[in-house]
Amino acid sequence: MKILVINCGSSSIKYKFFLMPSEEVISEGSLEKIGEEGSEITNHHKGLRMILEKIDGVEAVGHRVVHGAEEFTRPVLINEEVIRQVKECSSLAPLHNPANLEGILACLELLKGVRQIAVFDTAFHQSIPPKAFIYGLPYEFYEKHKIRKYGFHGTSHHFVAQEAAKRFKKKLSRVNLITCHLGNGCSMAAIKNGKSIDTSMGFTPLEGLIMGTRCGDIDPALITHIMHIENMTAGQVDRLLNKDSGLKGISGISNDMREIQAKARQGNKRAKLAVEIFVYRIRKYISAYMGALGKTDAIVFTAGIGQNQPALVKYICKGLFDNLRVKPKVMIIPTNEELMIARQTY
Ligand code: ADP
Repeated sequence: MKILVINCGSSSIKYKFFLMPSEEVISEGSLEKIGEEGSEITNHHKGLRMILEKIDGVEAVGHRVVHGAEEFTRPVLINEEVIRQVKECSSLAPLHNPANLEGILACLELLKGVRQIAVFDTAFHQSIPPKAFIYGLPYEFYEKHKIRKYGFHGTSHHFVAQEAAKRFKKKLSRVNLITCHLGNGCSMAAIKNGKSIDTSMGFTPLEGLIMGTRCGDIDPALITHIMHIENMTAGQVDRLLNKDSGLKGISGISNDMREIQAKARQGNKRAKLAVEIFVYRIRKYISAYMGALGKTDAIVFTAGIGQNQPALVKYICKGLFDNLRVKPKVMIIPTNEELMIARQTY
C-alpha cells in the first residue's frame, strides 16, 4: 500500500511517500515559504497540488496534526466530525492546527476517495493520569478552559519506545522507559508498561527542559515581574520565553548545541554554563521519572542532540545509576516521526 505522509507547517509542507508494510521510502521532499511575499506557492492547496503532480498512486494519506486535546487518543480516519473537532482544538495550538487543517482540506479535495488519517502529537500522552496532568490552579480552569498538561512530540516518544522494546525483544506493554527527545525542542516522557504516564512539556511546548530558544521550567511569578521591570507586554514576554531564552538566551551565542559546544571548548564561560544547565535539567527529570516508574528498563535518547551526541548522552547519565542494584540500559535510537505516521496510517 502506498502511503503519503504530510506535515504542513504554517509556511512549509514536508512529505514522505512510503510503500507499506515494507517501509520503503519511494520519495520525499519539502516546500518552503508558502504564502510568503514573492513566493510562487501562494497557499497549501497549491503546494500540495505541486507535490501530487510528482507522485503516483497514493492509496492513503497520514497527516501530522499537532493538537488533539482530549478528543483524540489515537489516530483517526478523517471525516466531517473529525475536521470540526480539529478546528475546535485550534484555540490550543493557534500556530499549528490551522496549517495542519489546510493540508487535510486540500488533500480531501485533490485526492477524492482516498482515505486520510490524522495522527496527533498529543495522542500518546493522553494516558497520563490526572495527578500528573492537572496543574495547581483552580480546578475550574481545567473545566472551563481545558488548561492542563497535554505534552507534545508524542509520535517521536512512541516511535523510539517501540524501537526500544524491539531491542529488548519484548512487547511495548512489557517495558518501562524514559524517552528523551532532545532536538531544538526538547521533551521527556515516562513510559510505564508502554504507556506515557508523564511528560515534561505542558499546556504548551514551553514547559520542562531547557531547549534551543525556550526557557522550560521557571518560577511562574517571573512573568508578571518581568512585565513590570522591563515594561513588556504579554506578547513580548511570550516571545522572550519562547524565542530568546533557553540555550540561546543563556549562552548569548546560538540556539544550536554544536555551536555552543565549540565555544565551550574554546573556554567560553556562558557556553559552558548553558551546557551545564541543559544537562542538569535532564538529570533532574530522569531522576524524577525513575521515581515515578519504579523499575526503569532503559533511558532512550533521540532527535538532533540525543541521537548524534553520544558523548553528551554519557555525560548526562554519568553517575546517575550508581546507587541502583539493577541499572537501566542507555539507548540511542534515531527518531522517525514520518515512519511512525505511515505505520499508524497503514
Ligand atoms: P528540530 O527539533 O528543529 O527538528 P533537530 O532535531 O535537528 O531539530 O535538533 C537540533 C539540535 O540538534 C541542534 O542543537 C543541533 O546542534 C543538534 N544536532 C543536529 N544534528 C547534529 C549532529 N549531526 N551532530 C551533533 N548535533 C546535532
